[in-house]
Amino acid sequence: MANNIVPVTREAFLQLALPERMKVWAEDRELEEYILTKAFSYKVNTAKFPHAKGEIKVAIIGSGPAGLGCSDVLNQLGFKVTVFERDDRPGGLLMYGVPNIKLPKEILLSKIKSLEEAGVQFRLNAAVGTAISWEDIRKQYAAVVICTGSSQPRPLKLPGNELTGIYYAKDFLISTTRSLLERQLVPGTFLSSEGKDVLIIGGGDTGADCAALALSHGARSILQVELQDCNMARISQEGFCELVKGDVSLQYNTKVKRLLGDDKGNVSGAELCRVEWGRTDSGMPIAKEIEGTTLVLPVQMVILALGFSGPEPVVFEKFGVKKTPLGTIANVSGSFLAAEPGVFAAGDARRGGGMVAWAFDEGWDAALECAKYLTNDIKK
Ligand SMILES: Cc1cc2nc3c(=O)[nH]c(=O)nc-3n(C[C@H](O)[C@H](O)[C@H](O)COP(=O)(O)OP(=O)(O)OC[C@H]3O[C@@H](n4cnc5c(N)ncnc54)[C@H](O)[C@@H]3O)c2cc1C
Repeated sequence: MANNIVPVTREAFLQLALPERMKVWAEDRELEEYILTKAFSYKVNTAKFPHAKGEIKVAIIGSGPAGLGCSDVLNQLGFKVTVFERDDRPGGLLMYGVPNIKLPKEILLSKIKSLEEAGVQFRLNAAVGTAISWEDIRKQYAAVVICTGSSQPRPLKLPGNELTGIYYAKDFLISTTRSLLERQLVPGTFLSSEGKDVLIIGGGDTGADCAALALSHGARSILQVELQDCNMARISQEGFCELVKGDVSLQYNTKVKRLLGDDKGNVSGAELCRVEWGRTDSGMPIAKEIEGTTLVLPVQMVILALGFSGPEPVVFEKFGVKKTPLGTIANVSGSFLAAEPGVFAAGDARRGGGMVAWAFDEGWDAALECAKYLTNDIKK
């Protein structure tokens, strides 16, 4: 398939010859515009909360669903809200994580425009902690809500990880959306998998998004591998393991042993083997290689969908917040308060990688707590 006919809409994508799981992926209406539309039309009950009169300034760092939900509620409550976003477009993972096939970007942009029209200010290309200092934010705003997401990707620790042609899932996903919005997917303006044998390491939802995108680019072959057994992985789709039993594009119980390169340093293959799961003497699950199952496959593109370990280091180094053992922002128990009074955290940054609906919910609740804090402050 030529790059200039990459199917970027759900309808066009569904015209392709797709494995069953990819049809489900594209048809599943729970995960995209339905949630977004619902989240934006949902009215948080603010009746019991005292309203401000536009004089109290609140900064929100990050414009993903947590930041959007939080800004919406604080704005409704009469606070003067500025959202700082380091990217060139607002929306967080809604913009650059979820592919356009699942969430058309014009829907997202129109929702954000409605927030702007209601009074929320967005400052883009505004990375707090680097381009804009945390101290300045603290001086200028009565409260801050940290909604920076969980975007520190888990690295690949394998022989061959230095080769060219290995990408983090987020970079792969971002490049297509950015090119779609700015360059109409002109060949050469995005990381294309056209004509390539693509290996996706990681069997979760992010890996599935990458598999769908690689399919839409016209990859020659796609193999998504997962070390765990399907039943061990946290699959939200009921009947999913049954659905993918005969699907050669998704293999569970499979380990990548190393990546191989050509004489120019480009990735050219992968050595894989099958594993079976057992228990150590202390009862911990352990993957054991099954002898005689090693095979080498040609691969020209590797995508790492290994998940995220929490917010990026700058958040912990500059924002005065502490890290939980899971890598997320520690909060005061039962509260969104994350550090000194007036500093709150919400969304994936606080609760770890989750779902869009949860992030909105966190943003709304953090906004109410922040409003309470600020209005109590006024009364003092
Ligand atoms: C590839 C992918 C696909 C997904 N698909 C789905 C799906 O289909 N359905 C679903 O329910 N969930 C999905 N999820 C999960 C969902 O997207 C997240 O749970 C949700 O977006 C978290 O929202 P958030 O606002 O906490 O963080 P994010 O959406 O990650 O937003 C954080 C924002 O903060 C900004 N930021 C970070 N640091 C700074 C800084 N220092 N200064 C300024 N800005 C900063 C980032 O640029 C980003 O815009 C997906 C996740 C991934 C990774």
